[in-house]
Amino acid sequence: MGTPRRSAPCPAGESAPGKIPEDARPSRLRLPPRRAIVHVDIDAFFASVEVLLDPTLKGKPVIVGGLPHERGVASTCSYEARTYGVRSGMPLRRCRQLCPGGVFVRGNHRVYQAFSEKFFRILRDYTPDVEEASLDEAYLDLTRCRRLYPSLGAAVRDMKVRVERETGLTVSVGAASNKVLAKLATRKAKPGGLFELAPGAEEEFLRGLPIDALPGIGPKAQVVLRLLNLRTIGDLWGLSRATLHSLFGAGGDEIYLQSRGVDGRALAAAGVPKSVSRETTFLEDLWDERLLLAHLAYLCDRLTLALRREGLYAHVIEVKARYADFRTEARRRLVLSPLRETGRIFPIVRDLFRELWSGSRLALRLVGVKAADLARSRPLSLFEPSAEREERLGRALDEVRAKYGFGSVLTVRERMLGVLYGFEADRGFVLKTASLTK
Ligand SMILES: [Mg+2]
Repeated sequence: MGTPRRSAPCPAGESAPGKIPEDARPSRLRLPPRRAIVHVDIDAFFASVEVLLDPTLKGKPVIVGGLPHERGVASTCSYEARTYGVRSGMPLRRCRQLCPGGVFVRGNHRVYQAFSEKFFRILRDYTPDVEEASLDEAYLDLTRCRRLYPSLGAAVRDMKVRVERETGLTVSVGAASNKVLAKLATRKAKPGGLFELAPGAEEEFLRGLPIDALPGIGPKAQVVLRLLNLRTIGDLWGLSRATLHSLFGAGGDEIYLQSRGVDGRALAAAGVPKSVSRETTFLEDLWDERLLLAHLAYLCDRLTLALRREGLYAHVIEVKARYADFRTEARRRLVLSPLRETGRIFPIVRDLFRELWSGSRLALRLVGVKAADLARSRPLSLFEPSAEREERLGRALDEVRAKYGFGSVLTVRERMLGVLYGFEADRGFVLKTASLTK
């Protein structure tokens, strides 16, 4: 990690391609002390857990997400599977075409959750400043720990060894002065390595990376940038901030700064995940609105259960739908007073879904609900006594379900799902492929 240093992140230069323009660099006077951000990511998480549980899978192409004839997508694949071109997010049938000898596993979210909890417990032994980016991915801010650890580098190596010894899983680690650079460093460290981006080396490091390495560049922006024949992050330096803004709006400003390794984001508050989501791929494409709403009601129920368990409230509710042709659409709504009650979230979800779907009415292969912009508390509102009632109802339901199983209380809508799916007393309807979202 080196000694703390005050230094501009990149050498000076004009806005010619390959140079960091002056306006992207924080001025020397305002530059905060160099931060020490570490990004840790478990390699091929679900697949690695499956190998731990069944060592005969070691060295085999393991694909987690479902059986090859089933619908849905791979949620994780082992490195052996990746050599066949299999990727997470790929439909299972396509995975089988590419890798006919692959070992397909449905996966067990509970087991992954337990491994994840152990992973985060170990990380918190090193600093309380831990952001849970997903089940298998964390950011640590060690800036304040400099006095505690004479060598931050040694502390990070020690942490890596401890995680691997105590969980049996391999992790990749990146260290840099901010979140985006640390994540890119981890990308370079994969699989199983540790890469520290030394101060002053940022420009050279960024220059040759492919544009899709930047978290701010989604699939749509990738297409646009490729049409402009821009392939590496270095190529992006030729575009002015105004140009990127005109192409991608606020996202363009983010791309401008990220491509220069500038990222002032603090870690998300300890223990508050970015979002909680529940989604499912259907056994067969669906277009019956009652059935679609039944799925959404069930997902809302699972979502609010998670929010109560984590002690969170949502400012943003989002609905996602994927059509039979894999086109995906989402609608979100910002609510003034943050929510976590099924009785209040479901009507929003229903309205958003109808808004999204009423135009096309095409068959859907997936629906999902997401709670985002999460908070640990909400302001007391004198005008919403119903919220209090709903909250008590939710807690009572949680208690009954914890004792007698999720299926002991089902709404009329949820009961409709019984004709489609198997029901497990403790897990509820088994309709979900495991997901990395917290
Ligand atoms: Mg991972």
